[in-house]
Amino acid sequence: MARQIYADNSATTQVAERAVAAMARSLREDYGNPSALYDRGTRAKKSVEDARKDVARALGAWSSEIYFTSGGTESDNWALRAAAMAKKGQGRHLIATAVEHRAVIETLRQLESEGFEVTLLAPDREGSVAPEALEKAIRPDTVLISAMLANNVVGTILPVKKLAAVARARKILFHADAVQAVGRVPIDVRDLGVDLLSLSAHKFHGPKGVGALYAKAPFNPPPLIRGGGQERGARSGTENVPGIVGLRESLLEALETMEETARRLALYAERIVEGIARIPGSYLTGSPSRRLPGHLSFVFDGIFHGALLINALNERGISASSGAACSAASKEGSHVLAAMGYSEKASLCALRLSLSRYNAEEDASEIVVAVAACVAELRRKKSFAY
Ligand code: PLP
Repeated sequence: MARQIYADNSATTQVAERAVAAMARSLREDYGNPSALYDRGTRAKKSVEDARKDVARALGAWSSEIYFTSGGTESDNWALRAAAMAKKGQGRHLIATAVEHRAVIETLRQLESEGFEVTLLAPDREGSVAPEALEKAIRPDTVLISAMLANNVVGTILPVKKLAAVARARKILFHADAVQAVGRVPIDVRDLGVDLLSLSAHKFHGPKGVGALYAKAPFNPPPLIRGGGQERGARSGTENVPGIVGLRESLLEALETMEETARRLALYAERIVEGIARIPGSYLTGSPSRRLPGHLSFVFDGIFHGALLINALNERGISASSGAACSAASKEGSHVLAAMGYSEKASLCALRLSLSRYNAEEDASEIVVAVAACVAELRRKKSFAY
């Protein structure tokens, strides 16, 4: 079998050994309920609180501003709903970018059906949104603005600090979906000036099904999930102790290795971009400069559907995706590329390559050779090309 290359790290990542070891220890030893009063319970509670401190420190927040959740989707749902509910007395207008993840878009759609009004800001051709465009969309009744730090399809990093400053000047709550950015680029919530921020462990070599929401004090997000009153009454449910332990370890390791990883991935990305640019009818999508380290996205003329390219690459041992993982099998093109002005035809044949610190130097050249061969092969098979 050919050497396997995993290049779909924006969908999910390989779990770091350090996280696996800490989780295994937690599963075996700290299985007590964190709410229990005996040692096995208080030890589990301490693991959760230690993790909260480290996550807070990693983001430049206070521990009391961090709430553990089941992942990015829950954090996004909760942030938007909490802000909308808390502020609905002041207004019912919500703003987000049109390139947000569906966890944001679908929650906004739901809020719309409950009487809120939603404005989605059109991005530019690179998938970014300028502060001026946000200024124009703000109304006296705007109570929440949501913008992602980095886009999950094209990897473009949005000017969240500037967007949040626009919101702050008008005392409007600002949520940042940082699911793709945490662990990959430095983040400081105070410097960014955001009120709410979502993250998810499985995007930075942690386990799936665990994430966190940062909510700037004194805003106490009203609960989305009710029950036994865990997480200071804000998010009920027995804590996912091993998951939270894994999140902590993977985040600490991601931060320790971030600089070196970013430097290495910039080199690999440059090689891939140069190599793929030599394929006629290939186009890099997203910002050429302001993008997540190691995250590349392309569209190709003459390929009917990105899934064909993904399957062909899979046969050569390369795992990649065509836009967002959750819409991998979709017959519709990415809403992100469509919002960026790409035609339906173009957005159907996207290729997303996202690398991590586990990729090796030779992966870059092997990816280029494989993509070139697969594109040429698919274009030859006329039935698969348009
Ligand atoms: N937001 C963004 C930008 C994402 O990329 C993802 C995952 O793909 C999510 C939210 C959802 O996170 P999770 O998979 O942890 O629910």
